Amino acid sequence: MRKTRKSCREKKRYASQAAANRRAVELNRKGVRIKPYWCPVCGGWHMTHRSPTAVLNEAFVEAGLAPVYV
Ligand SMILES: [Zn+2]
Repeated sequence: MRKTRKSCREKKRYASQAAANRRAVELNRKGVRIKPYWCPVCGGWHMTHRSPTAVLNEAFVEAGLAPVYV
């Protein structure tokens, strides 16, 4: 069951980790500190400037799952 949430609609979504990684490498070369993370809410990949762990845990909680690590 795929859901979306506000943050999913507002963010660019990448279909695969490879696509997200390529974009992250490009941006990091330009000095943008950004990391891709997998989103359990929509099943796609997004980018974040924040700690990917914190974002991932928020997404897990939103999806009704327990946070995996803190
Ligand atoms: Zn998402």
